[in-house]
Amino acid sequence: SVDKEKACSVAKIKVVVRKRPLNKKEIAKKEEDIITIEPSSNFLTVHETKLKVDLTEYVEKHEFVFDAVLNEEVSNDEVYHETVEPIVPAIFQRTKATCFAYGQTGSGKTYTMQPLPLKASQDILRLMHHTYRNQGFQLFMSFFEIYGGKLFDLLNDRRKLFMREDGKQQVCIVGLQEYKVSNVETIREFIEKGNATRSTGTTGANEESSRSHAILQLVIKRSADGSESKPPRVVGKLSFIDLAGSERGADTTDNDKQTRMEGAEINKSLLALKECIRALDNDQGHIPFRGSKLTEVLRDSFVGDSRTVMISCISPSSGSCEHTLNTLRYADRVK
Ligand code: ADP
Ligand code: MG
Repeated sequence: SVDKEKACSVAKIKVVVRKRPLNKKEIAKKEEDIITIEPSSNFLTVHETKLKVDLTEYVEKHEFVFDAVLNEEVSNDEVYHETVEPIVPAIFQRTKATCFAYGQTGSGKTYTMQPLPLKASQDILRLMHHTYRNQGFQLFMSFFEIYGGKLFDLLNDRRKLFMREDGKQQVCIVGLQEYKVSNVETIREFIEKGNATRSTGTTGANEESSRSHAILQLVIKRSADGSESKPPRVVGKLSFIDLAGSERGADTTDNDKQTRMEGAEINKSLLALKECIRALDNDQGHIPFRGSKLTEVLRDSFVGDSRTVMISCISPSSGSCEHTLNTLRYADRVK
């Protein structure tokens, strides 16, 4: 079918960088925009100011190339168009697709990620009601987080969840609430509810949620005979992962033991994720899932026919130069 051909022609791994605008705080501190993007190109340059031994300044340029580079004027609709939209038809054809948002805290991961499942489910429901009408497809949604290596259901009062493997490479998260959804409004409410339930700890929202990975999954199921009488089986899956702040992986020397342990876990999971995506790209038989909870949970999205989109979010400001270079180097390694 045309849909199937379209789906198969989409790259297995796509790495996209999104630069956000300078914010008020950065402008007040007179920080400068150090990222240049050639209009309608996939090139990006970081202009890093460095000091010579005699303390005079000089600028070192770092150039990068990605599948797409989105500047601060690009809208969320355009981000969807560039990243998730092309892979939506594939999930009706037994494909598991995953979209990650990577970057330091404050770089725009949540801003970028939040609208994507909503737009995707709009397209999924449209396909279900038109192209695949009366074929028994159903859409389900779940939303959970990984915090300190533990799983919590964001649509069920942060109930603690456990992962189990069934020996057939299928991952099962015991107790995870999966809701059948048939309209976009319900999905919007679930997304808002889940986001409000993310770890807020004692120190304030962004601080704590930056230490967790939030995973929203849209699952397409189908009843064997096309009717709704038998329990439906999973056809395809689309996962949206708002990763922990990449700088948190460096919290491994913090004075607070809890923070140190969380930092070590985040570091481990982001490294394991990079290795898994690289293994996918090289079509290696062995994919190192076992490196972390995050990659174990995503195991069934890495085997078989899969698609991965990595959106690396960066701040434009001179004050974030080091984190930005780290983010871009990580994205570069994934490619
Ligand atoms: P993160 O999830 O990476 O910690 P957020 O998504 O919370 O970062 O973004 C930090 C702040 O920057 C938020 O106030 C958000 O609204 C704003 N922001 C992020 N990206 C953009 C963008 N592309 N355009 C406008 N504002 C943005
Ligand atoms: Mg966030």
